[in-house]
Amino acid sequence: MRSFSEPAAEAFRSEVREWLIKATSDVRATGSGIQADLDAELQLRRDWDRKLANAGYAALTWPVEYGGRGFDAIEEVIFAEESAAAHAPIPINQFGRRTPASAIMEYGTPQQRARFLPPILSGDEIWCEGFSEPDAGSDLAAVATTAVRETDGYRIIGTKVWTSLAHIADRCYLLARTSDDAPRHHNVSVFLLNMKQPEVRVIPIKQITGASEFSRVTFDGVWAGDDELLGVENEGWPLASLVGLRTMNQLSLATRYYVTIRDNFDQLRECCNAAPECTRRVDRIGVKVELLRWHVMRTTEMKMIGREWQSPSSVLHLYWAELWQEITQLGLEQMCVDHEKYWRRWYFESRAATIFAGTAQIQRNVIAERILGLPR
Ligand SMILES: Cc1cc2nc3c(=O)[nH]c(=O)nc-3n(C[C@H](O)[C@H](O)[C@H](O)COP(=O)(O)OP(=O)(O)OC[C@H]3O[C@@H](n4cnc5c(N)ncnc54)[C@H](O)[C@@H]3O)c2cc1C
Repeated sequence: MRSFSEPAAEAFRSEVREWLIKATSDVRATGSGIQADLDAELQLRRDWDRKLANAGYAALTWPVEYGGRGFDAIEEVIFAEESAAAHAPIPINQFGRRTPASAIMEYGTPQQRARFLPPILSGDEIWCEGFSEPDAGSDLAAVATTAVRETDGYRIIGTKVWTSLAHIADRCYLLARTSDDAPRHHNVSVFLLNMKQPEVRVIPIKQITGASEFSRVTFDGVWAGDDELLGVENEGWPLASLVGLRTMNQLSLATRYYVTIRDNFDQLRECCNAAPECTRRVDRIGVKVELLRWHVMRTTEMKMIGREWQSPSSVLHLYWAELWQEITQLGLEQMCVDHEKYWRRWYFESRAATIFAGTAQIQRNVIAERILGLPR
């Protein structure tokens, strides 16, 4: 039975801590939210991605046969904790290494695995996720982007929106409708789409943070070959639905966001500079940050020993998202002179946490209906 206190886990923690001290000595994101800084930050995150890949830390939980380390969630959480403590950057290819990579490993052909997994791992190909559309967000079954069958592939027409990293992405994990007649949930397919085609138009959306990290993307007759269809035509729903991969990812999402939350929290503590009222509030928030860490660890251990872990993992998103907003709200209220831009950026950025990967209302529905068994 695995646990965070076992010798192997402790040894991994020491190894990672030592590596991070050296690897982060010359990197630290500015966090100001200014576009010029964000461009630099993007480059820094790309470089960090490569550093992780070269050192064997980019895909801890991937099987060894695909270039991963074959570890389980324990090592992933330890790495996130130590990255948080070292204020390490967030790797750029976070989307590619989560849903697309897991789905390609599970549903892809041997050729697709050989073609797509190595550049995801190395950071040479950046991925985005094309689910949301102007009229399909929480309810993904309403996607209207259409892929029409031709002799040896598909012609795709439609619009996606809020597509993070689309402006730099090489590939898109795209959900599109492939049948007008088949029943709901048996009429969509997933494509591993090449974004570098003239018929793909990426229109950056200016966010309240001042940055443009996501875009509206139009597909005007874009081509996807048969070898870019993942799994079986019309059976793409399990590869994309909220109850599938995206929900299972709540644990790793919380693990990933703990890094940013911890970074913001440490900055907040510094910002308070021993002012009594601020310190009192920060101490209370500190307990919650620690509880987040323990909750992630406990859920991970439950997963490891085969106990029901989906329920505790479902409350995680709501917990970390609201905690993050509480931290950045206080940071903004304090408005420390040195950190003004920092807090403006993170305050706005944290607003998105109760929207993406399932809105807070949807998370509450999940908790009410699936965990507490309340009537609809
Ligand atoms: C920073 C950021 C990055 C994103 N990146 C991506 C990306 O890379 N790829 C991608 O595909 N999408 C991305 N999204 C989009 C995100 O997944 C959607 O915004 C989200 O799924 C909600 O969809 P929507 O905006 O259409 O809102 P809607 O689904 O229209 O919801 C509007 C409101 O109604 C509520 N609501 C809807 N249905 C219910 C219900 N059944 N019960 C109770 N309340 C309900 C919602 O909670 C919300 O408050 C991103 C969003 C953000 C903010």
